Amino acid sequence: MRRLQFWLIALMLVASAAPAHAQARLDVVASFSILGDFARNVGGERVNVTTLVGPDGDVHVYTPAPADAKKIADAKLVIINGLGLEGWLPRLVQSSGGKTAIVAATNGIAPLKIGGDADPHAWQSVANAKVYVANIRDGLSAADPAGKTSYEANATSYLAKLDALDAQVKAAIDKIPADRRKIITTHDAFGYFAAAYGMAFIAPQGVSTESEVSAKDVAKIIAQIRKQKIPAVFLENVSDDRLLKRIGAESGARIGGTLYSDALTDAKGAAPSYLDMMRHNVKQLAEALMS
Ligand SMILES: [Zn+2]
Repeated sequence: MRRLQFWLIALMLVASAAPAHAQARLDVVASFSILGDFARNVGGERVNVTTLVGPDGDVHVYTPAPADAKKIADAKLVIINGLGLEGWLPRLVQSSGGKTAIVAATNGIAPLKIGGDADPHAWQSVANAKVYVANIRDGLSAADPAGKTSYEANATSYLAKLDALDAQVKAAIDKIPADRRKIITTHDAFGYFAAAYGMAFIAPQGVSTESEVSAKDVAKIIAQIRKQKIPAVFLENVSDDRLLKRIGAESGARIGGTLYSDALTDAKGAAPSYLDMMRHNVKQLAEALMS
């Protein structure tokens, strides 16, 4: 009897101690990999982040799976880019029941316009990435007030890394002679980078990877490369390479490498984090345009 009592007490002690050890993490869904990286940096140990569009995935043309609606329904917070990037999201949110809090990471950013539409690729300027991080910090704090201090501390330390990154990008681009700061990319993902750091990006495919490129567009780009002496053509991890390789071959511009525009890579790739992605892109640009 005494032995049974002992075990009962021991069991109760274990049970009461358990929640402190296995504290449930806050389930957070990010629409694509770059937002997922920001959310992990700000959320730290308190969050469990799932991304819908994973490494090297194309967020413009994503087709949600039925499991995605459940991920959203089960989450405490959904982080999206906004500015029309996730055209597939409203229906998905509706089929999830629409009860989960949503934060748009671009809140407060004045969008660049391409034609009449907002350019959604705001993360390509590090100054904007800082706005993303602040919005994510505030969204997490609202969803999990007990973690506010922790989110604020994580955000502050990550924002300092972004400040250092911004200075690094500026310094690297400043070294490229002004008349060589122009390249061709597949789709128009670098408008904010161009505006922030002083480079020209010309893209045959426009602001979304969805658009088709006509033979006339290709001829126009090739003429432009020759006329403006554009030194390099860059491939992207989210786009079909064939078009740019053809443009490179026909125009004589060199293939400068791969830029990461709308998606990170997995852990083994060149851009597993936002910081890695920006450093990689700048290194590629400098190598192709300085030589
Ligand atoms: Zn894009």
